[in-house]
Amino acid sequence: MKPAADPVSIARDLIRCPSVTPAEGGALAYLAGVLEQAGFAVHRMTFSEGGTPDVENLYARIGNASPHLMFAGHTDVVPPGDDAAWKHPPFAAEIADGMLYGRGAADMKGGIACAVAAALDHLAANGGKPKGSISFLITGDEESVAINGTIKLLHWAAERGERFDHCILSEPSNVDTLGDMIKIGRRGSLTGTLVVTSKHALVAHAHRRRNPGHRNGS
Ligand SMILES: [Zn+2]
Repeated sequence: MKPAADPVSIARDLIRCPSVTPAEGGALAYLAGVLEQAGFAVHRMTFSEGGTPDVENLYARIGNASPHLMFAGHTDVVPPGDDAAWKHPPFAAEIADGMLYGRGAADMKGGIACAVAAALDHLAANGGKPKGSISFLITGDEESVAINGTIKLLHWAAERGERFDHCILSEPSNVDTLGDMIKIGRRGSLTGTLVVTSKHALVAHAHRRRNPGHRNGS
């Protein structure tokens, strides 16, 4: 089946939005457009707090049932610094040698693009409706003071009676391959069972020397 959405083109569109905190830069407006077109109910809210800049945020949901899967993330990026120091301009989203370059390509417009594309593909494969609910909880206030962002979004969602069963956060953390690192997160926990399958064998040479009659595997 042909995918409904191309994560690379979504990532490029997002990178081209100069959303240096606290500027929205067009990134949330772009996401709102894509998600609205797919049938999501989109809410845009600006949070304020004395002494900090106002920051825009977004919450979008499709479906009313559970389970409710929420994708969380941020569209803001840190300042690009000296433009002349960039081989590829920070907001041009150029592709060279199979790599996508730009501020926020890894952290975390690429991740958001993958989540959006996956959600759109899922909806396209299921007649436009999820089996439960899918939502996006996206802030523009993560890279800087992070006062008018995720925490306020979660309070806002709780007041509306939103309940989340699962959350996926596509922040970059893996070094070489997907899944090579599990972080102790600041925003949740993971409990699991690790099953290690191996052959029963003895590897302690020193132990064997002390016990010459001891056989491997006994
Ligand atoms: Zn990040």
